[in-house]
Amino acid sequence: MTTYQNFIGGEWIKSCASKSAPNVNPANTDDVIGDIPLATREEARRAVEAAAEAFAKWRSTPAPTRGRIVAQAARLLETNKEELAQTLTREEGKTIAESRGELQRSINVAEFCAGESRRLTGETIPSELPLNFAYTIKQPLGVVACVTPWNFPVAIPVWKIAPALVAGNTVVFKPATLTPGTATRIVELFEEAGIPPGVLNLILGSGSEAGEEIINHPAVKAVSFTGSNGVGIRLYEQASRRGAKVQCEMGGKNPVIVLEDCDIDLAVESTVQGAFGSTGQRCTATSRAVVVNQIADEFVQRIAKRAQSMRIGAGVDPQTEMGPSVDENQFKTVLQYIDVGREDGATMVCGGERVTGDGFDKGYFVRPTLFDHVTPDMRIAREEIFGPVLSVLRVKDFDEAMQVANDSEYGLSSSIFSNDASRIFRFVDDIETGMTHINSPTTGGEAHIPFGGIKGTGIGDREQGSTALDFYTDLKVVYVDYTGRKREGNLY
Ligand code: NDP
Repeated sequence: MTTYQNFIGGEWIKSCASKSAPNVNPANTDDVIGDIPLATREEARRAVEAAAEAFAKWRSTPAPTRGRIVAQAARLLETNKEELAQTLTREEGKTIAESRGELQRSINVAEFCAGESRRLTGETIPSELPLNFAYTIKQPLGVVACVTPWNFPVAIPVWKIAPALVAGNTVVFKPATLTPGTATRIVELFEEAGIPPGVLNLILGSGSEAGEEIINHPAVKAVSFTGSNGVGIRLYEQASRRGAKVQCEMGGKNPVIVLEDCDIDLAVESTVQGAFGSTGQRCTATSRAVVVNQIADEFVQRIAKRAQSMRIGAGVDPQTEMGPSVDENQFKTVLQYIDVGREDGATMVCGGERVTGDGFDKGYFVRPTLFDHVTPDMRIAREEIFGPVLSVLRVKDFDEAMQVANDSEYGLSSSIFSNDASRIFRFVDDIETGMTHINSPTTGGEAHIPFGGIKGTGIGDREQGSTALDFYTDLKVVYVDYTGRKREGNLY
């Protein structure tokens, strides 16, 4: 059994923590993978100090040289793809195909960010005065904290760490306590790629102790957080109060609108994929299907048939279509929400219970669950469940569908199934989400395309794509006057 260590100032260091947590396979709780000593506040501080010390040298390392190290990390992720995918499935529970997909996304992101190191450009701006011009340069911020969730424990760290490093920042990485194995391997691969001591540090510890210590440390100039709204808003309040830059990507309650003129086979298959893929534990998972009355009966019946036929099991089995919830807490939360849905009067169409027998009792398996006749005021229509639960909200027409879809505090992703160009483009104009999909699931994204939400989901710059480095850089404006004379015009 592994005992995980922190990585501080270029050294793997055994924690002197008195508290620890087990790393458990959610598909089989007899499989205890390792033990995580929960880093102390003092260890968290040391990691920040190591990052602060390494900053000056890393900042002055040419950006393409920094990018070359990140490119090498991408190559190592590729070489170790299968081993990392197996680790990911074992500690987080997603299917092995989903883990391989996540690894590929991570490789793509690292490659993209490495390329950005040669495009860390500013702009030149003509002046209103003769013999003058201005230009901008992008500069690193200093020590950046990357605080990440368990549901994409490889991709999300990589899409924060890679751009932070390329931009010239040093990093303290605080992953979710539930996924220490993947976090450790990511850092090992960056180390092998040639990251100098102190430039990337790893602290495995609880959010409420080590995490808080990091985000409140005055040397931490920016915090990039992905996770729940409760934690994100609190962290935002704390870090921004002392003037740190903060980026939060948080929860979702993503709607799909299904109109009468759609390809219903496509709508059903895509909604099943969006709702139950990764066990509904994607921030972009489809959790509300807003369906016009005309086709609602057929849609519900076909989704139920497909959900009931899904093969549930340990993600390591290549035949498995849906794995377990990540841990006992998440599992109980999902079952509680199912009770809430029933009590609030929604119609349970299928699922609604844990899977038992045949070894399932040792894992956190819940059947794909479909609720029909959900109304917008019900809790299952409003709150993020983060499990395999889909709510169908029936509406009379497109206008009501838009109103229901937008009736949410969240604004991450959405999609529409229709073949009517006019309504599709009205949907694109008016849907209140940061990302939207036409005739495809609410899930998915690409390394070179910006990612993130609006409303209650997102605070700060978008991650990935052309915007990936925005958060991790400050813009400096330089005025150049080559008249050689005292300024006469433009005295404001
Ligand atoms: P949490 O908010 O519980 O935790 C996220 C991270 O924050 C973990 O590393 C956690 O540590 C840490 N943390 C907890 N408390 C503190 C604190 N007081 N100070 C500093 N750090 C803290 O989220 P989950 O891990 O449960 O992830 C699921 C959530 O993530 C869902 O809401 C999902 O929608 C969201 N998410 C959003 C995405 C997006 O792009 N919008 C993408 C993926 C997920 P520890 O593990 O030790 O508690």
